[in-house]
Amino acid sequence: MDTMYITHPASHLHEMGALHPDSPKRIDAISDQLIMSGLMPYIDNCHSSLRASDEDILRVHTMDYLNYLRNHIPKKGSYHTIDMDTIMNSYTLDAAFYAAGAGLLAIDSVFNKQVNNAFCATRPPGHHACSNRAMGSCFFNNIAIAAKYAISRYNLKRLVIVDFDVHHGNGTEEIFANDSSVLMCSFFQHPFYPDTELICSQNMCNIPVKAYADGSFIRNIVTSRWVPSIKLYRPELILISAGFDAHIEDDMGQLNLNESDYKWITDVLVDMAEKYSSSRIVSFLEGGYDFSSLGRSAVMHMRSLARL
Ligand SMILES: [Zn+2]
Repeated sequence: MDTMYITHPASHLHEMGALHPDSPKRIDAISDQLIMSGLMPYIDNCHSSLRASDEDILRVHTMDYLNYLRNHIPKKGSYHTIDMDTIMNSYTLDAAFYAAGAGLLAIDSVFNKQVNNAFCATRPPGHHACSNRAMGSCFFNNIAIAAKYAISRYNLKRLVIVDFDVHHGNGTEEIFANDSSVLMCSFFQHPFYPDTELICSQNMCNIPVKAYADGSFIRNIVTSRWVPSIKLYRPELILISAGFDAHIEDDMGQLNLNESDYKWITDVLVDMAEKYSSSRIVSFLEGGYDFSSLGRSAVMHMRSLARL
């Protein structure tokens, strides 16, 4: 099989209150749609995430920050608010270690040639988490932890991080600005949360787009901006921050993509990976808050990864 699906029960235990949009039901929305799609027999789905070690986390985050999180684990049944939409319950830190560990299992699986690619459907997401702070529902920057692990374990010189979430992946950008071992390509709604300054750095191809941009506008950015940069860079691995909140049915953002756009973007990345990266792709769930469009879009993403 080409594609591995990784998740973990801890992703269901981390929750930030009944009204918070980052709900454990997001994982069910994906797995339900995956079962209904008929794709299940073609996906290697028997994999439960591993737990990342402190060493893995500390390649990206500071010891002070890790200690801060450890010192603020709330008692069962209570919450600790870190910022307005980033909240810990007693299971959150465990879930964060397993969400980071999913990426590490995926990296090993693609480098051992067990599969070509993997999709990590875990929570909490990661792309807003900076080296020294949580924000935007993100605690550990899962994709950055996987990237640093791949660089250290497999001696990589060049990897690409693509981020198609509706929100700017400010944490990933902060962590890898001016790091020539990573090229980051994204688009994101602007002005919009997190409203952090874009860092001017040669290895960043992050394109702000106005609200209500549609699929054809986004496809043009992919073709004219991302693809030439990726071709020039010749990555040994492609990582994806796969947020599905730019979908037209997702009220979190105001971009107008649909699931066929996610399929098209993933097809382009699969082609690039075949050409440059021995087909290696590891993808991470970021946003996506409308259950129906999240499930449908994630399945189209996996369909493309599996070449089905
Ligand atoms: Zn998002």
